[in-house]
Amino acid sequence: MLGTGLVKGYVETARNFVGTYTDSQARLVTVEYPEERLPLKEATRQFPFLVYDGADAQAGLRCVACQICEKECPPQCIYIVKSKDKKPDYKKQLQLYPATFDIDISVCMSCQICVEVCPFEAIKMDTEYELSNTDRFGGMLLNKQQLAKDNEHYRRIHPKEAAESDTALAAELAKAEAKARADAEAKAKAKAAAPPPALEGGKTAA
Ligand code: SF4
Ligand code: SF4
Repeated sequence: MLGTGLVKGYVETARNFVGTYTDSQARLVTVEYPEERLPLKEATRQFPFLVYDGADAQAGLRCVACQICEKECPPQCIYIVKSKDKKPDYKKQLQLYPATFDIDISVCMSCQICVEVCPFEAIKMDTEYELSNTDRFGGMLLNKQQLAKDNEHYRRIHPKEAAESDTALAAELAKAEAKARADAEAKAKAKAAAPPPALEGGKTAA
């Protein structure tokens, strides 16, 4: 019948109009940002951050300055300078660390490739999006102090991913500890089995 579609449209509009007041959960209503914010999803990603363990942001940085992420970053917006000295990592092994680690987030395209290529669970994607700045150059170039965030932050923003990362690191640590124990035992056995040192005149020590 002529006009049926029009009537259906009015009914739908009226239903949505009334529903906005009576059933706002089921409808898309305007979020009054910045007073209100939608909860972020686990997969949300903006720009990378550097993960650290413990209380000291710089001593606890997981990054060993291997520069893989720097080489793989498609728009080349990561800049790393290796340290001259070494510091112990979470396995108590001495490693280099980044003396400089900058990311130009005005260039970063949030592709997450740096995260995927990092062998040390050291760089992850942050969900922070309120990063507007009046300084187009310096303000968008984040240094390692600004990039460092603790593992608790990672667990808060990406709980599932962080749990997998914690499990992987715990397995690495257990492997390193088992190897250190096996090495120590082998060393002790070799020492016990070694012949006593020779004394003067061809005699051996008792
Ligand atoms: S997210 Fe992509 S573009 Fe941004 S720093 Fe990582 S690799 Fe580079
Ligand atoms: S963040 Fe990862 S890949 Fe990049 S330099 Fe550090 S350890 Fe290497």
